[in-house]
Amino acid sequence: MGQLESKVALVTGASRGIGKSIALKFASEGANVAFTYSRENNQIEEVVKELEGYGIKAKAYRSNAADFSECEQLIKDITNDFGSLEVIVNNAGITKDNLLMRMSEEDFDKVISVNLKSVFNTTKSALRGFLKSRKGSIINISSVVGVNGNPGQSNYSASKAGIHGFTKSMAKELGSRNIRVNAIAPGFIATEMTEVLGEDVIENWTKGIPLKRAGNPEDVANLCVFLASDNSSYITGQVINVCGGMST
Ligand code: NAD
Repeated sequence: MGQLESKVALVTGASRGIGKSIALKFASEGANVAFTYSRENNQIEEVVKELEGYGIKAKAYRSNAADFSECEQLIKDITNDFGSLEVIVNNAGITKDNLLMRMSEEDFDKVISVNLKSVFNTTKSALRGFLKSRKGSIINISSVVGVNGNPGQSNYSASKAGIHGFTKSMAKELGSRNIRVNAIAPGFIATEMTEVLGEDVIENWTKGIPLKRAGNPEDVANLCVFLASDNSSYITGQVINVCGGMST
């Protein structure tokens, strides 16, 4: 029996990268998986089929994580389609890197909306259902730069640090109702998001990682399974690094 047998999980932004890997790992552990994507593309149906290959129910929803009313509708639709919702992984995220001198107000606002406001949007929308069933696990994907900061990423690191504050507050607000809220802070993970940095930058980053390699999306997904499962039933309000020792 899988660790997530018959749980219903939402993973935001799971058309590729870390989100896709989490969705697949959840399905392989027996969870039914709802996932979102932001832009129409022909890979969505393939992801749904891949998930269904594990013998679970899977469905894709086009939904903008930054938009509150879309998230409210999304949670209603998932609850109707699947009958319940127990796990949310807030994974959708973007970067719009620049030194502050050159960063536009628009790029600051966009990153805060997609990365941080999105976490408020799904959590608030799902709250009533979670409180009623007196269970739930919310997992927010942040970043080690939310702890340490990074030049050129003031918008991104502020959004991820904001996730940490939100996560800890929610854990305190909801713990008595058996709703757990944790954050995962990945270090340098090889995905399309980091591919754009170029070989030189990637090589430089890797040198500074004690385990001497970039992480894989599966490294993050493995921890997600644990935090979504009942094996982590005494863990809440934590920010857990998955970074090969880059941040201690
Ligand atoms: P990615 O760009 O490959 O995937 C991001 C996903 O989010 C995509 O599926 C995209 O469609 C979706 N998305 C973007 N905007 C959205 C919106 N408005 N509404 C719904 N979905 C939206 O990136 P990734 O590397 O897989 O990153 C996933 C998460 O992990 C992000 O939150 C990112 O900040 C975080 N993270 C990544 C790394 C890394 O090194 N790759 C490190 C630390 C944290």
